Amino acid sequence: MRDYISKSIFKKRFYDILEGKGTDIPPVGTVTTSPVMELMEITGAKRPEADRDPVKMAQLAASLHNTAGFEIIRFPFDVTVLGEAMGCEIDPGTEARTPAVIGHPFKEVFQADPENIKVPEDLLKKGRIPVVLEATRILKKEVGQKVPIIAGLEGPVDLASYMCGIKTFLKWTIKKPELVKTIINMCVDACILYANECLRSGADAVVIADAAASPDMIGPDIFRKYIKPELMRFTENVDGHSIIHICGTTDSIIPDMLECGFSAISIEENVKDLKTIISLAHKKNTPVIGNVSTSDTLFSKKEDDVIKECIDCLESDIDILAPGCGLAPETPLENLLAMVKARDDFTT
Ligand SMILES: [Zn+2]
Repeated sequence: MRDYISKSIFKKRFYDILEGKGTDIPPVGTVTTSPVMELMEITGAKRPEADRDPVKMAQLAASLHNTAGFEIIRFPFDVTVLGEAMGCEIDPGTEARTPAVIGHPFKEVFQADPENIKVPEDLLKKGRIPVVLEATRILKKEVGQKVPIIAGLEGPVDLASYMCGIKTFLKWTIKKPELVKTIINMCVDACILYANECLRSGADAVVIADAAASPDMIGPDIFRKYIKPELMRFTENVDGHSIIHICGTTDSIIPDMLECGFSAISIEENVKDLKTIISLAHKKNTPVIGNVSTSDTLFSKKEDDVIKECIDCLESDIDILAPGCGLAPETPLENLLAMVKARDDFTT
């Protein structure tokens, strides 16, 4: 019997949704990055320390529930942890600027020699991976009995693009597809290893974010031929719930995403037809998470606009009301609270 029983309604709702049982009230939360500066001020857990210190990482993540009222929380606050551990050079960023990959081990074709395309044996001890695993254990103990905690990582396509550099990666998808296939295969191995360790450390689910897999970046044909089978291999080998987030206008690959075996899909505001996506997903008994605009509504609009957009999502039968993509650090806390208010208004 799972440990959420009799412990928390938030955890029960989350597991019920992911297990295809539906729920009475749709939860509000986040499965995408949420490094909100107002929460950094309130907790004192600021960037860049909150990206590198497990106690601060856990404090900032917990504030998404304790202060913003979210019922599902996601950490860490960037998607470069695995890339860094795999040997990519990172700009650690500042309070307002998210860490970014600036150096790529496979920038030149000779570097992507088959000898070099392998996951380091001590991957789980490298870079910030031990920090995220320790933050997972802290969160599990401190808020994990109350709210689901989601560990996020870059997906295999983003990781491959970090390894090669995005321009080189996109060029090689056309000119060197076999090499890209080998690199993505290795990246999936790394994602599986890391995701399973996050789950073993206490995460209720993992979410992979794969911006580079978006139809805005690569054609749906390449997605189907080279990426979909690898995403299927990911879900088959992950010992727990996994969620996929792909940015951009994902309508053309939704049927494929739904066949990959994820427990839920997360989509953003740039999708063309939310209702059709949700209806396709529900036919496959897959919940949909999203898709309140992060770059526009949550970042720069007022409470009333946020509430209106949240109601639209809920009326479209969204399963978990969430930011559509990663939150901008300057996003007002008031707008996160408005999401919870909108859901409360909608369900009472
Ligand atoms: Zn996104």
